[in-house]
Amino acid sequence: AGVHHVQRRDIVLKWELGEGAFGKVFLAECYNLLPEQEKMLVAVKALKEVTESARLDFHREAELLTVLQHEHIVKFYGVCTEGEPLIMVFEYMKHGDLNRFLRSHGPDAKILEQGQGQGEGQGQGQPRGQLTLSHMLQIATQVASGMVYLASLHFVHRDLATRNCLVGQDLVVKIGDFGMSRDIYSTDYYRVGGRTMLPIRWMPPESILYRKFTTESDIWSFGVVLWEIFTYGKQPWYQLSNTEAIECITQGRELERPRTCPSEVYAIMQSCWQREPQQRRPIKEIHSRLQALVKTPPVYLDILG
Ligand code: ADP
Repeated sequence: AGVHHVQRRDIVLKWELGEGAFGKVFLAECYNLLPEQEKMLVAVKALKEVTESARLDFHREAELLTVLQHEHIVKFYGVCTEGEPLIMVFEYMKHGDLNRFLRSHGPDAKILEQGQGQGEGQGQGQPRGQLTLSHMLQIATQVASGMVYLASLHFVHRDLATRNCLVGQDLVVKIGDFGMSRDIYSTDYYRVGGRTMLPIRWMPPESILYRKFTTESDIWSFGVVLWEIFTYGKQPWYQLSNTEAIECITQGRELERPRTCPSEVYAIMQSCWQREPQQRRPIKEIHSRLQALVKTPPVYLDILG
């Protein structure tokens, strides 16, 4: 595929945004990337270890990312492979990953803010205070839209979770990670012998039991993402250890309805959590249903929860 190449001298690093399993992510200025802008902010992923197999994975991922283009998939601009480190250039999403965003707009936000210092997240059109039902539905609809696109390409994500979605200006949400991000959120994964880390809390019984990953297992994970959105980013089965969570999921126990979640939305979650993969509601239908709910939000009273 035609992976676009960026020159090293056109990338000026500013500061670190985060750390992933494969390297660091930096905010950078990039020159001569788009014709209408001399320079623009981007997020660059730098690959730390460049073994031969890592280099192969890098090029494979770059080719894949070049093909995946959709308004709810984070935009990939290209690579820089002059010397080291190997770099991938992405659109910069100013509010970072969706899990952190949800937590910082939920009931525990005050505590989180103290740990993060001043300056960040002040003003600039971002919803202050807690997210409303309408915000949550907008977020969910956008993730569903990206998933409809991936399913149309028969692309199985395998690791859909709010930590792998990114939030930009004006509450734009995109799916933003395909290379499996498992460092900072390491407690979300369960090591199953050797190096394989599995996001078991997001996985349906057939993925846990038989390692079967399909468009239908992505639908299950989407249901868990909905649950994360309506709990302001809680970890699914947070009260359980990994082995206990596996036990629960394979026995067919369901996550409970979050306090702020209307029954209309909980019904969508439950349609994602049908034990039989073919019984799960297609992601296209889920997307349409969410879109309809965004237009006419259900009336609910929190105190009834
Ligand atoms: P990896 O896939 O290597 O594990 P991630 O994609 O998870 O790395 O990135 C690590 C962190 O960097 C994310 O949790 C997020 O906070 C930040 N980040 C990644 N990509 C972007 C981006 N395009 N814009 C803004 N922040 C980003």
